[in-house]
Amino acid sequence: MEATDCRARCPNGRKQLQKAAWRRQGDPVRPARFDSPIPHRQHHHPRAMDMKRTAAGRRPPQQPQATPTPAALSIPDPESAHAAPAGSSPSETRRPQQGRPRMMLQLGLALVSCLTVLPALAFFSSVYWGAPLPRLHWMAGEEWAVKGGLENNDFLDSSDVPKDKQLGGLLASGFDEGSCLSRYQSVLYRKPSPYNPSPYLLKKLRKYEALHKKCGPDTEMYKRAVDQLKANQSIRATECQYLVWISYSGLGNRILTLASTFLYALLTDRVLLVDRGADMPDLFCEPFPEVTWLLPLDFPLNNFDIFHINSPHSYGNLLENKVLTGGAMATGSLPAFVYLHLAHDYNDHDKLFFCEQDQLLLRKIPWMILRSDNYFAPSLFLISIFKKELNQLFPEKETVFHHLGRYLFHPTNAVWGLITRFYRAYLSKAKERLGIQIRVFDVGTGPFQHVLDQILACTLGENLLPHVSQQASDIPTVYGKTKSILMTSLSSGYFENIRNMYWEKPTVNGEVISVHQPSHEQYQQTEKQMHNMKAWAEIYLLSLTDALVTSAWSTFGYVAQGLGGLKPWILYKAENQTAPDPPCRQAMSMEPCFHAPPFYDCKAKTGIDTGKVVPHVRHCEDMSWGLKLVGS
Ligand code: GDP
Repeated sequence: MEATDCRARCPNGRKQLQKAAWRRQGDPVRPARFDSPIPHRQHHHPRAMDMKRTAAGRRPPQQPQATPTPAALSIPDPESAHAAPAGSSPSETRRPQQGRPRMMLQLGLALVSCLTVLPALAFFSSVYWGAPLPRLHWMAGEEWAVKGGLENNDFLDSSDVPKDKQLGGLLASGFDEGSCLSRYQSVLYRKPSPYNPSPYLLKKLRKYEALHKKCGPDTEMYKRAVDQLKANQSIRATECQYLVWISYSGLGNRILTLASTFLYALLTDRVLLVDRGADMPDLFCEPFPEVTWLLPLDFPLNNFDIFHINSPHSYGNLLENKVLTGGAMATGSLPAFVYLHLAHDYNDHDKLFFCEQDQLLLRKIPWMILRSDNYFAPSLFLISIFKKELNQLFPEKETVFHHLGRYLFHPTNAVWGLITRFYRAYLSKAKERLGIQIRVFDVGTGPFQHVLDQILACTLGENLLPHVSQQASDIPTVYGKTKSILMTSLSSGYFENIRNMYWEKPTVNGEVISVHQPSHEQYQQTEKQMHNMKAWAEIYLLSLTDALVTSAWSTFGYVAQGLGGLKPWILYKAENQTAPDPPCRQAMSMEPCFHAPPFYDCKAKTGIDTGKVVPHVRHCEDMSWGLKLVGS
């Protein structure tokens, strides 16, 4: 049964209904006033090359490191050849002295044969039996890995380059490693990113960390700011301004909105504080050194249910009700806080958040409370006062979530256990890993035949997976590489079908395919702690694969692709229970899609197509009205 079946039962049913509504009605999120012509989805032929995958595919085959037994490889001592082994003939024992050089030559030849033939035999037998090829055991950072609990790292990629556990300077040093093993161990499981964070981003992050330390919870500055909030006083010049993120919606949405909110905090020099919701501390480690990012439990505005589209404190309503005006700005009679409603149902006034003039006004308000279920970062790139800084932070525009996500989101030790145990058991030994993330927003119980057809049409058509022979009795003479498929879905049906396909028939190219799925939770159960821990573990595991297939519209998949630095093949949304043709296409960039962007030209005060303003903000592949960042 897919998630949509739980609408009545699940707290998040509203979001799925929203997605279903988009599907039925086209684009109801677009307000009339902000309307612009929306381009139809272009069905490009999905032949674009994934350079990462191609590179991985062309990696020179690993040299087998077969380890013959010590007996087989021990160098015979010519002197001891005189000692007669039991059962040897007298002629062998009484070897004349002049025969010694010849004997040494023979022994040398035998040794050379051993050294060449045995490894080759071991290699072919291991391929034949589908056993993992032994890999080099060298590992930089071994000391801390062992300390952190990794005793056996034989599956890790060998490398002559020391592992960069701080991810090119993205992560600060000085954390207690044991309290969050994933922070510095992720480098052992993930290939190095080809994208380097800019020196400006690194500087900005260190500056942010210093600000957080100065103004974060339990500091004098924080206490003062909270007192002013309680008194509802706005302060003209204040060193510390705050941005409170409300935990809202499914896990993928939460991760994306938190990353967007952090980006906005960086741009506006605000301190980010995180509502812990039902389970945030169970899922994520603290990302900033020394001072927590969690909103203290005694924060005066702790009933976030009062913040919604109709809240009188929302920026949109404050504007509409003329509470916030140029006059209020001039006299300094601004409120101490404003609620930013940036969720999918936000109205035209709320959307003015994305206008430069409004940003100048918002700058003066010390506290902001933000609720969103969208990755709104792309629209920040269209606000002129942020453009210069964003260019410096992200010269490679499509790396925003990739860098911020790897900076912010570190699984807690409990989730890291789920990830590493699964990885070691099912994925580490394969030569290649393919992730397939299935999310079906249709009504009705799955698995659906048309979805299975679509997965196969995509993965076989794009050569991500091999075809199977129709002759079940065909046995390959030589087995090819091993490939592990990691499937994630609320249903187990797709996984079972694909696993059976590769069990019942041989692959045409001899590849050995194993198929794994960590959980099949049936429906979205946001209130269950372990449910979200598993969901987070699965997102992370998907991000550790070499190539990824994702489902249209799913933020679950967006997070995986961004963390992994992968341009996924996106399975188009099926219409009328029919597999689309083409079934998928490769994404232009690894960035997530902003599902509900504004379509408004703030200066001209008219609707425009915001997907056509700058080359690096374009419409998404999977949602024609959405916006995403792409490489310029
Ligand atoms: P989206 O709805 O696909 O955009 O992704 P979200 O993560 O925001 O919300 C979907 C929620 O449903 C997740 O947070 C999980 O709770 C659950 N879910 C959906 N797909 C899966 C899956 O493949 N595995 C697990 N464990 N949970 C899933």
